[in-house]
Amino acid sequence: MKTIGIFGGGQLGSMLTQSIFKLGGNVCIYDESKNSVCSRQVAKFYQGSYHDETNLQEFNSNCDILTYEFENIPYTTVSKFSDKTIPNSNILKICQNRIYEKQFLQNHNLPIVRHIIIENEHELEEQLRAFSFPLILKSAKGGYDGKSQYIFNSEAEFKLLATQIINNPRFFPAVAEEKISLSKEVSCIIAQTQDGNIINFPIIENVHHDNILEYSICPARINTELSKTIIQYSTQIVKAFNLIGLLVIEFFLSTNSPKSDLSIDNTHIFINEIAPRPHNSGHLTIKACNLSQFDVLARILLNMPCNQPELILSGSICMINIFGESFLNNPNGNLNFQNCALSKNLIDLNIYGKTQAKLGRKMGHLTVNHIDAMSAIELAKILKASLSS
Ligand code: ADP
Ligand code: MG
Repeated sequence: MKTIGIFGGGQLGSMLTQSIFKLGGNVCIYDESKNSVCSRQVAKFYQGSYHDETNLQEFNSNCDILTYEFENIPYTTVSKFSDKTIPNSNILKICQNRIYEKQFLQNHNLPIVRHIIIENEHELEEQLRAFSFPLILKSAKGGYDGKSQYIFNSEAEFKLLATQIINNPRFFPAVAEEKISLSKEVSCIIAQTQDGNIINFPIIENVHHDNILEYSICPARINTELSKTIIQYSTQIVKAFNLIGLLVIEFFLSTNSPKSDLSIDNTHIFINEIAPRPHNSGHLTIKACNLSQFDVLARILLNMPCNQPELILSGSICMINIFGESFLNNPNGNLNFQNCALSKNLIDLNIYGKTQAKLGRKMGHLTVNHIDAMSAIELAKILKASLSS
């Protein structure tokens, strides 16, 4: 039986662990926090700093293959074990830094939003003034769920926060992107097996609120041609990386932006970012597809064959995130499962078991299946609201 080591023991690591267990694999987890989601799930759980050489070596000695569940694991930690890490650590290095990621995409002639690189705090004011508002300022490293980024619709808005940002040199280097008018956001989950088979999931549509994913819908409401182009771009990225493993590419679609090279039905496509791991938008694949994003990655890690995953449900599927608010808004701080338990359309409910509910913290998700996207979204929102009743 092979042992897969996962850097990071949050909900993504937990769902991947379940898929590896189903295939008879063993799992070792390494996380900085002793209370992480996976700590109750696996026999071999290593708690320690990502810079603790001895602990890391011991973890490694127990594992046949290593992977990571999020891209903010230090590159220097993962690269020590590059000979057995999937996806390879060079991919991690590029994807965990927005500057490297944009350079990589640009070098491969893939469409990205107009942007500038701001190396340090001294350049900030001058560079932003020379760029155009509205813009989004993002730290090159460490951000997730809309963290470490600022939206500035005007120079006046920027001025209010300028001193605060300049006084935080750790925010730099950074990128400033043109804030484009989005008609849709979608993601493509794509993977390559160890024997070179490239497979992808149906395109998923994502709706964000305050720059955090609120819900995802599958199939995405886009036409076949757009979908084909998105898959083509994604395949190009897999080949350019020489990827073995799974990655998820976030796309912006805009009907109101003349600056991308490519337009299909007046829709411009931009690649936003690449996650070299399973993704929040893919949680609906757990019940909607014959193989989930975690099953596919588990097969690749265990060097098993894998066919193209397919939807096994008709109509539309909607996954909605459950945040700390759902707990905090409930009078007794728990969740009320009454309505969810009775709903025939609820196909998945997963509460991750995090020890503390916080505003904006992802605590779980639920997934519904309905006749069309509007009905699925409406029901998902109703069921989510009922958790706090
Ligand atoms: P994170 O790593 O936190 O997911 P993203 O770069 O994906 O950061 O930004 C989060 C969300 O913010 C995006 O999904 C999108 O809704 C919005 N956003 C980010 N950049 C832009 C942009 N250039 N124009 C318009 N909206 C954007
Ligand atoms: Mg994102």
